[in-house]
Amino acid sequence: VAMTSDCIFCRIAAGEQPASLVFESDTVVAFRDIAPAAPVHVLIIPRQHIVDPSSLDETSAPVMADMFMAARTIAAQLGVAESGYRLVMNQGQDGGQSVFHMHLHLLAGRWMAWPPG
Ligand code: AMP
Repeated sequence: VAMTSDCIFCRIAAGEQPASLVFESDTVVAFRDIAPAAPVHVLIIPRQHIVDPSSLDETSAPVMADMFMAARTIAAQLGVAESGYRLVMNQGQDGGQSVFHMHLHLLAGRWMAWPPG
């Protein structure tokens, strides 16, 4: 699916919904989370409307690689590559997914206990 007009993250990727963008490429967009759970909290999304990680198939490998490479670039850009960061992707109800356009959370700027609460 190219874009769904009722998807908030498709609207951000299309520039139709304001967001604090930190990274953009042909395939990926990243922006600050509106309810940050850490001093640095960025969401990295594919421009393509992929619902969730369970929707991935064999064609998804390039965009997944682009998302992880974007995380690496953003961490360096925001100065947290050395101090460290956490990458999280939530799937479905028990995973705590609330927006059904797949996204990678990049969390940094504080020590994050493991396991999370
Ligand atoms: P998840 O619970 O993994 O689906 O994560 C969804 C995240 O999207 C949450 O951390 C929300 O705070 C964040 N979020 C929802 N709407 C927006 C928005 N318009 N701009 C930025 N972040 C958003």
